[in-house]
Amino acid sequence: MSVRDEAAKIADEIAELRHAIHREPEIGLDLPKTQQKVLGALAGLPLEISTGTALSSVTAVLRGAKPGPAVLLRGDMDALPVTEATGLPFASRHDGVMHACGHDLHVAMLAGAARLLSARQSELAGSVVFMFQPGEEGFAGARSMIEEGVLDAAGPRVAGAYALHVSSNRLPLGVFSTRPGPMLAAADQIFVTVHGKGGHASTPHRAADPIPAACEIVLALQTMVTRKFDVFDPVVITVGSFHAGTTDNVIPDSASFMATARSYSPETRNMLAELVPQLARRIGEAHKLEVDAQYRTEYPVTVNDAAEAAFAGATATELFGESRAELAEFPITGAEDFSYVLEQVPGAFLMLGACPPGTEPETAPTNHSAYAMFDDAVLPDGAAMLTELAIRRLARG
Ligand SMILES: [Zn+2]
Ligand SMILES: [Zn+2]
Repeated sequence: MSVRDEAAKIADEIAELRHAIHREPEIGLDLPKTQQKVLGALAGLPLEISTGTALSSVTAVLRGAKPGPAVLLRGDMDALPVTEATGLPFASRHDGVMHACGHDLHVAMLAGAARLLSARQSELAGSVVFMFQPGEEGFAGARSMIEEGVLDAAGPRVAGAYALHVSSNRLPLGVFSTRPGPMLAAADQIFVTVHGKGGHASTPHRAADPIPAACEIVLALQTMVTRKFDVFDPVVITVGSFHAGTTDNVIPDSASFMATARSYSPETRNMLAELVPQLARRIGEAHKLEVDAQYRTEYPVTVNDAAEAAFAGATATELFGESRAELAEFPITGAEDFSYVLEQVPGAFLMLGACPPGTEPETAPTNHSAYAMFDDAVLPDGAAMLTELAIRRLARG
């Protein structure tokens, strides 16, 4: 029987695990209930299981009967601070916490793959490392797991690493999408505070108004994006938070804003880290105002190895047909901490369309929306895809 057929046979089981995790979502690095569900799903399989110290991760190693390299499959486990509004029968039971990024599906598909691969242990030449990872949404859980040794969990360093991410919009249901090179952006944070001197709004010359200078910095950042950076190595800067003052007739002491910066190459990222604080400080200087400007690097660019992306794309085409395998023209402006894994070892990150039937991919609520819905139909195929990636990568030696 093919892996796909075997996956279809356990589709209900995979969906059940997904629903259980979806009902009880947890945020961050400590996900004890989710961890228990993962351990429960893996119980009885021929795996070497260890759990994390700094985070509630689960690392499982399957050793094939024959010698060979090691490959890594990753599923992230954490939810978001969102109150679910989908009305699904298995919706979150907790206000303010929701699996709005579909990580519940990732856990279930990875557990399904663990089951499918365990059944083929005697045929495998090498080892498979299953990386169940907390804290993807801003907590850099992947980096912590790397520090705790996940890449070497099987002994030799993994030779290839793969992750699937479901999408509630854009991609049609069941379509796998990947590309060589940059797949997702680097996402960094910018913090700016302009320090002035408060006073009466009617006599600004007796105060030092921080607001116009802060506004100038916001606009200058947008100009900088278009004047300093190659249009073919794109940059996005969005000021998402801007705060100053309390009322119309008082000049405040300070004005602050926060922004996100997205980029796709280390060179551009380094330039941003240098130019953004410099621009902010110098505009402050021009107005004789002190400016604190911090550029804080967060997740790096997620870069797919060209050969591994081609391999993953070919695997999707062979398994599911050309209509379900997309070579993505452009990267995504989102960011991922799987980037830390792909900085260390070659591999590929793939998106999987999970937009429910009857909804339009272009207009469906996006990942992170309180209305985001991910269809169970992708679960067996996602598990089969992870399984085949491992089998075929090991077969390459
Ligand atoms: Zn997310
Ligand atoms: Zn995600």
